[in-house]
Amino acid sequence: MDTSSGLSDRDALERFVADVREGKRSLRDLDQEGKPAAVSLRRHVLGTLTHTDLTPLTATHVDAEHTLSNIENMFGSIEIPLGAAGPLLVKGQHARGLFFLPLATTEGALVASVNRGCRALTAAGGAITETLQDAQARSLLFETADAESARSFVSWLEQEENRQVIFTVGQKGSRHLQLVGLEPFVRENHVWLRITAKTGDAMGMNMITIAGKQIGDYLEKKHPAVTFLSESGNLCVDKKASSLNQEKGRGKRVRAWAVLSSSIVEEVLKTTPEAMVRLNRLKNQEGSRLSGSLGENAHHANMVAALFIALGQDVAHTVDGSVGWTRMTQEKDSLRVEVELPALQVGTVGGGTGLPGQHACLEMLGVAGGGHPEGSNGRKLGEIIAAGVLAGEISLMAALSTRMLAAAHQRLNRNPVQPAP
Ligand code: NAP
Repeated sequence: MDTSSGLSDRDALERFVADVREGKRSLRDLDQEGKPAAVSLRRHVLGTLTHTDLTPLTATHVDAEHTLSNIENMFGSIEIPLGAAGPLLVKGQHARGLFFLPLATTEGALVASVNRGCRALTAAGGAITETLQDAQARSLLFETADAESARSFVSWLEQEENRQVIFTVGQKGSRHLQLVGLEPFVRENHVWLRITAKTGDAMGMNMITIAGKQIGDYLEKKHPAVTFLSESGNLCVDKKASSLNQEKGRGKRVRAWAVLSSSIVEEVLKTTPEAMVRLNRLKNQEGSRLSGSLGENAHHANMVAALFIALGQDVAHTVDGSVGWTRMTQEKDSLRVEVELPALQVGTVGGGTGLPGQHACLEMLGVAGGGHPEGSNGRKLGEIIAAGVLAGEISLMAALSTRMLAAAHQRLNRNPVQPAP
């Protein structure tokens, strides 16, 4: 074992393994050996308990010192191949220039497909992007004695002077959070208070949760008949696909669009504007409605997830971040394509953005760290992701409109994998 702790003694280690098996001790106890040593000890303990060789999980650049606020019980790191798509020309409100997109995925054909979309967009003069909204949301849950008390609590919340006090209370915990909205929802004797805030360049979930706790505690103290039940009442809506987020937006609401001439559609995408528009109507619109899906798109989730992993975003937010629309119309003999993502949760500080590889990928896009003015890096990142989603949508839709999807996956996604020696 590569540790100088007491547990490097083989007998002590074996006793520890046995104790974990019997539930007498936990993997967390290894933190006492110091974070780096704990990682390799945990790998050894888990390898022994599961009869598995865990050396492929040996951390490379992700060492324990870099992950203090990212993980518990760390025992290694997983490598995911990283591919580049681009250059992608973006002419946006906040993102401008040529970008190479880092995509972390194990789905063969995805990077090649997004790359083809980038080629088409760049040849067409670039993707235009826009940030329509930028505010994080949390919903606090309260209980009152009866429906009448709930209504009177809501009337109090809606008075302007009380709103201002609530904002001041909530903003105490952060130099970068600015509350901008309070919206109560009432059902009988329960009140959900959806708070919204600007969170600078941070995605902001921790910041707004801390603000929400401060507000909930304050309101409970101020109104003895009101009980603060929970920091989240599911009207945020966090990590769930929801029509509320579609309607109101959450995090960044972004869109990206472009106009592709028929010659670009034919030469780069190997299809026609008519075929694209027809398939978009039948697949993305009618098919999604028939299936009860939220949003109308071909595969927003593919680009969102691959970019989120590469860029240190919270990958569970793929659920809300990928609910959105892909729209296509024919303009003369050109194709106008647009994507809109109403609830993209992204940041360039906090969360996983400080891990070395993820930070390097953010640097590739020129968005690592806080922006000047504040919030500009977060918005630039949101727009680059929207442009990447647009690239992926047009390429997949083109493949589907010519029935080339299966052939592309057969060629790029079915290589026989040799087991590791
Ligand atoms: P965070 O790391 O908790 O907060 C951002 C930090 O960056 C704050 O300390 C902030 O300062 C600082 N900061 C420096 N420059 C900044 C700038 N230009 N703009 C904004 N902040 C700046 O990150 P977060 O975005 O709030 O939360 C992200 C994490 O939340 C992710 O790891 C995600 O997985 C997790 N998450 C949490 C929940 C939850 O319920 N709590 C739910 C979903 C996800 P201040 O100290 O002054 O604010």
